Amino acid sequence: MKKYKIAVIHGDGIGPEVMEATLYVLNNLGLNFEFIPVEAGLNAWKKYKNPLPEETIDIIRKTDACLKGPTQTPPGPETFKSPTVTLRKLFDLYANIRPFKSRPGVPSIHKNVNMIIVRENTEELYSGIEYSIGENSIAIRVITKKACERIARFAFNLAKKEGYKKVTIVHKANVLKVTDGLFRSICFEVAKEYPDIITEEMIVDSAAMKIVMNPSDFNVIVTTNLYGDILSDVAAGITGGLGLAPSANIGDKYAIFEAVHGSAPDIAGKGIANPSALILSSAMMLKYLGEEKIGKMIENAIDSVLSEGKYLTKDLGGNTKTMEFAKAVVEKLNKL
Ligand code: ATP
Repeated sequence: MKKYKIAVIHGDGIGPEVMEATLYVLNNLGLNFEFIPVEAGLNAWKKYKNPLPEETIDIIRKTDACLKGPTQTPPGPETFKSPTVTLRKLFDLYANIRPFKSRPGVPSIHKNVNMIIVRENTEELYSGIEYSIGENSIAIRVITKKACERIARFAFNLAKKEGYKKVTIVHKANVLKVTDGLFRSICFEVAKEYPDIITEEMIVDSAAMKIVMNPSDFNVIVTTNLYGDILSDVAAGITGGLGLAPSANIGDKYAIFEAVHGSAPDIAGKGIANPSALILSSAMMLKYLGEEKIGKMIENAIDSVLSEGKYLTKDLGGNTKTMEFAKAVVEKLNKL
């Protein structure tokens, strides 16, 4: 049986709790994993004065994929740069894939939502080029042709592979004529290679409103880094909240899988966090590793637990604890 070497970042806040639940599920699949714990985030900063120690990077390089819990980066210039952003750049994980689905049994504003946000993950305002000039400050918004081209191609390929009909290019090219203008025009260039897929464009503010009002109109959204980040939380909000939103950071050579949510310090240490987002992220990891069938089984098991409504975590109106939820998922998996 093939052995998968997986680097595991437990992370901060609820990270270790949702990771324990996720590893419990993964360890009950009958697959051969070697999980290698590595440190990153606020806890690593407190211990080593480095939020992303060299050893962590070295170990990650030797693995097949990384499963990452949320890491906390306190705001303000006096702290450190987000290790999540650093890892995305270091491993050139240019595509951030965030699927949003309304799930059976989950109270949500809308039903029939099934969309994927494909967010450029390495540049734009996240390039981290910021200066103070006297009492003022400036950030450089970098958009390159290469990054636009590969994220657009990734989005259209994904739409084709997953059988989605439409790709929506989201930008603000009416105001940011040079930077978003480039993103827009390159996306339309790439779209010509995919005549079977409908291409539309939308200004980001309008897209935010339409995601709230008519989310089932969307299939695949392709957008730049900051817009993708913000629209993701909007999409999570209308499909049951952050506790259910998984994501993948994918490059040509490596991939990191993590929940969309952050470290949720407000509920950390109580054992009440919803582990679904990270468990679903691990299902995306299995698909990436070629274990499509088992990845789909995990998704089905989660849907089955949620639709029964017996084991729901606090964010979904229940009082099931994090590990109890994971156990319910494994019980379902054993019956599938
Ligand atoms: P960070 O600074 O790490 O981004 P944050 O609290 O600002 O943390 P999130 O962690 O994304 O941002 O949390 C936003 C809200 O969603 C919080 O109220 C949090 O409790 C809730 N939340 C996030 N993830 C989960 C989860 N897995 N289960 C339940 N509630 C969650």
